[in-house]
Amino acid sequence: MAMLRLIRNLIRPYRKSLAIVLAAMLMETLMSLATPWPLKVVLDNVVGGNRLPHWLNGFLGTLPGRGQTQLALLAAVGFVAMAAIGAVASYIDSYVSESVSQGVAHDLRMRTYHHLQRLSLAYYDHHKVGASLSTLTSDIDTIQNFASSGTLGILVDILAVFGMFLLMFWLNWVFALLAAVVAPFLLWFVSRYRKALKNATKLVRGNESEMVAVEIHGLESQRIVEAFGAQELEEARLNRVSQATLQSALHARKIKAFLSPAVAVTVAASTAFVLWRGAGLVVAGTMTAGDLVVFLSYLSRFFKPVQDLAKMTNAIAQVAVAAERVQAILETDQVIPELPNARPADFPRGEIAFNHVAFEYVPGSRVLADVTFRISPGQFVGVVGPTGSGKSTIASLIPRFYDPGGGAITIDGVDIREFQLQSLRQHFGFVLQDTVLFRGTVAENISYGRPTAAAREIAEAAQLANAHEFIQQMPEGYQTVIGERGMTLSGGQRQRIGIARAFIRNSPVLILDEPTAALDVESEERVMEGLMRLMQGKTVIMIAHRLATLQAADKIVVLKNGVVAEEGGHQTLLSLGGIYAGLHNAQSDTKTVEAAV
Ligand code: ATP
Ligand code: MG
Repeated sequence: MAMLRLIRNLIRPYRKSLAIVLAAMLMETLMSLATPWPLKVVLDNVVGGNRLPHWLNGFLGTLPGRGQTQLALLAAVGFVAMAAIGAVASYIDSYVSESVSQGVAHDLRMRTYHHLQRLSLAYYDHHKVGASLSTLTSDIDTIQNFASSGTLGILVDILAVFGMFLLMFWLNWVFALLAAVVAPFLLWFVSRYRKALKNATKLVRGNESEMVAVEIHGLESQRIVEAFGAQELEEARLNRVSQATLQSALHARKIKAFLSPAVAVTVAASTAFVLWRGAGLVVAGTMTAGDLVVFLSYLSRFFKPVQDLAKMTNAIAQVAVAAERVQAILETDQVIPELPNARPADFPRGEIAFNHVAFEYVPGSRVLADVTFRISPGQFVGVVGPTGSGKSTIASLIPRFYDPGGGAITIDGVDIREFQLQSLRQHFGFVLQDTVLFRGTVAENISYGRPTAAAREIAEAAQLANAHEFIQQMPEGYQTVIGERGMTLSGGQRQRIGIARAFIRNSPVLILDEPTAALDVESEERVMEGLMRLMQGKTVIMIAHRLATLQAADKIVVLKNGVVAEEGGHQTLLSLGGIYAGLHNAQSDTKTVEAAV
């Protein structure tokens, strides 16, 4: 039901176009039904010399001259006229129905992408990107192909079958009954057959996507493959699935190749019967040669829409599956809820406070149990703790990538859930452990947070982030295209572009999650220089493993077992002799070792 509602919703804006398509399709069918009749006129009335029916005679009486040649000419003109009308209808049908199906696909694609763009990160924790991608592409394609021609095609096919049957019945009801007996059998046979074919095709599709997965996996990890000399292993992997694809494709083709000839033979057998008995009737004078020709021409075409109808059941099943998958995304309500009376985030001071915040990603496994601390405006707060203690989680809760399960986060005393989501997030700038770059120019990557930034501002931001120098040395400077995922840049360069990006955004609160963790000491220094400039005059929350980076912090929060275990300045925490002091001593030991080496 929900699926039908979705399809109806999608089609609604195109009602007018669909009516045009339907009219064109009907005209096409009508013209195709009429084509054999001029032949009948020529055979029966021109060659055979039969009298024309009364009404036609009256009409022809008004024409100049009444000879056989005129009649033949008229039949010929009629033949061309029908073909021409049919051609125009076919042109209108195929163009307008394509425009409807493209429009439907566009609307659906945008609607799905819009929804995906707004889903909570919790959705992406549990759903493969590949699955969403295949819905956006192939499922929508399936619906597109069906949207106009499919639904209307069924209607026209049914009308054509009935129309032809009535005409055949009128021409010779005994023969017509023969067709009526063969048709359901054919319908049954073809739809049975298509089920087998569908299973075989499914297997081929499965093998093909497996093959793509193996290829992607192999090529993406080419660096490791070559490092470990695992080329033959990867080739063997592909060989296995490629062979399986080959086998299943051949099997599917074996089934498919049998279908059309089998149908053709059945049709030929019934045609042969009519040809044989019909010839007898014509000789005996109970049927005209023209009637027989018209009948045979209908018979040969009668089974085409019957076959199409059998195929349709399959297409409908496919569309149902595709629509279900699209529907599943559209109905996902894993969005971060925005209150109906949410207001723009606008805080004069900007004091962030965690009040007894509890959080779990997966029900039953607590990450934060009871976290309470305060970040004053303009303060630099460091967060430390063992790996897995929930530091990054804290960073994700502030911009509401997730909502806490208990307690609340407030800014100037107002629960952040009362703000409009977009306007809340505008107040934060991020530099994370690994800066994600997009395929595009360096300048585009820097201005990602504010696409209207001028070239001068971009260069200034890069200068402050210590990135200007290396960008200028690149072949085309700021217009150099960075490869996918920024693979052509070093880790330190990527981070400095991330910092430039935060400069451009120029938000009052900075969230830094181990921005230097992946860098060596020398590179870290260059990045830290940029970071320090960025942090000036901003409220900063910085997560760090290396405590040295937090020496300038106003306050350090130590997380352990889901609660704030210690809190205070560097010196205070050292004199406390607890977790922080332990971490500090361990790290300065390695420093001395490093220095000695
Ligand atoms: P690290 O120092 O290694 O970065 P962290 O303190 O930042 O660790 P978090 O990333 O906040 O730790 O993770 C806290 C806990 O939550 C971990 O046990 C982790 O396994 C779990 N976790 C993190 N992200 C998710 C997620 N998306 N889904 C489920 N569990 C998660
Ligand atoms: Mg982390």
